[in-house]
Amino acid sequence: MMRIKEIYRPVSSRLQDYSEVERNLTASELNSQAKRCQDCGIPFCHGRGCPLENVIPEINAAVAAGEWKLAWDILSSTNDFPEFTGRVCPALCEASCTQGINTDPVMIRQLEKAVVETAFEQGFAQPLMPLCDTGFRVAVVGGGPAGMAVAQRLNRMGHKVTVFEKNAEAGGLLRYGIPDFKLEKQIVRRRVDLMKRAGIRFECNTEVGKDITLEYLRKRYDALVIAIGTPQPRDLNIPGRELPHVHFALDFLCGQNRVVSGEQTELPISAAGKRVVVIGGGDTGSDCVGTSLRQGAKAVVQLEIMPQPPENRSGSTPWPDWPYLLRTSSSHKEGASRLWCVGSKRFTETGVDYVKVEWEFTPNGKPVKFKEIPGSEGHIDADLVLLAMGFVNTPPPEVRGEDVFVCGDAATGQSLVVRAITDGRRVAERVNEYLISRSNDK
Ligand SMILES: Cc1cc2nc3c(=O)[nH]c(=O)nc-3n(C[C@H](O)[C@H](O)[C@H](O)COP(=O)(O)OP(=O)(O)OC[C@H]3O[C@@H](n4cnc5c(N)ncnc54)[C@H](O)[C@@H]3O)c2cc1C
Repeated sequence: MMRIKEIYRPVSSRLQDYSEVERNLTASELNSQAKRCQDCGIPFCHGRGCPLENVIPEINAAVAAGEWKLAWDILSSTNDFPEFTGRVCPALCEASCTQGINTDPVMIRQLEKAVVETAFEQGFAQPLMPLCDTGFRVAVVGGGPAGMAVAQRLNRMGHKVTVFEKNAEAGGLLRYGIPDFKLEKQIVRRRVDLMKRAGIRFECNTEVGKDITLEYLRKRYDALVIAIGTPQPRDLNIPGRELPHVHFALDFLCGQNRVVSGEQTELPISAAGKRVVVIGGGDTGSDCVGTSLRQGAKAVVQLEIMPQPPENRSGSTPWPDWPYLLRTSSSHKEGASRLWCVGSKRFTETGVDYVKVEWEFTPNGKPVKFKEIPGSEGHIDADLVLLAMGFVNTPPPEVRGEDVFVCGDAATGQSLVVRAITDGRRVAERVNEYLISRSNDK
């Protein structure tokens, strides 16, 4: 049995809507894909790839045996929100899957999604009620995956948790950044509802530092967790940056997400009928490609200053490392073109002036240094330019004290949903230790 390659809805239909692009596997596909994990003689993959240390072979064995409740119990013991990682995780685990040494890795992410969706359908996914009542109160600033994970853990440990979120709904970038075609927003709401039913309070439309001060929260709560992500996008300060058709990617993506959910009726930035240039080749850039195409862009080109990665795992990242290789997202397959080794020099009324660059590589294929190629200057026509070059590591607000903790992207810098959840779980343990030490002092 081979790994199933085609998991997306047809391009022609998926471009007509914002629903998730990935189809659900059938019961027999799930069974045969889970069995691929059992075909592995010695699954020495444990704990290597997944930051959450999901116990993958045991989960897959339970799926293969049709023991969905058992699979859910194992999965939810290490991952607070598998419905998010099961949809948007780049699946670091699959890069270190033992099957992947000489064939395609097991479809771990899709199996995870099936386990959590079955758990919701069959009612195994229930609010995680507090195990006791410690009487301590914790404020979490920021309702993204890190803040949600820390809140869910601390509530379970018996502390009263309030999450303060500046947006109208919790979920952070899951709710406002990542498009619906990767993660539909009822999935985020469904989890927030479970958390509310478990006793966690969400104070949305409340920006800490503006509507309420950190010092006020500190006086009212026994501990404070800052999980505000990395709100500041990296800019490209080249001539023409002030032109009205040059925007940050997140402003574009947030606008579409708000329109899909009905929070807003008009798009603040639209790609309809436009030639779009996306600068930056990561997840955010790819999300801009898919969103532009759905909005009816005339053409979409993605520019990347890095060289095109190899089609197969480069020698610089041997198994089980996260491989350096060309990643083609579902959005790329929907009709955009990608240009590599392109440095943007100037934004103009009609588009982007660029120069080609040449990279130097280490002996095992890792790009290290580039220089511009004289005479390679060119111009790409564009009516809309989206800057998707990551986020600046802004230090969290200056509050010190042993009762203040920082977690998620705010602590680590821009990262992944799976790492935000892992960090939330880790920080919850630290907060709990601190609170217990205080109760011992009493
Ligand atoms: C467009 C895009 C696509 C991505 N795609 C993927 C993907 O496919 N897979 C993946 O694994 N990762 C992806 N990521 C990265 C991932 O979303 C982040 O790593 C993750 O969301 C970080 O979680 P967090 O909770 O630390 O921060 P965030 O998700 O940024 O949440 C922080 C929250 O804090 C709130 N906040 C900030 N300041 C305040 C304040 N003063 N008061 C109250 N609330 C405040 C914000 O409104 C936000 O809700 C993507 C990121 C972007 C931008």
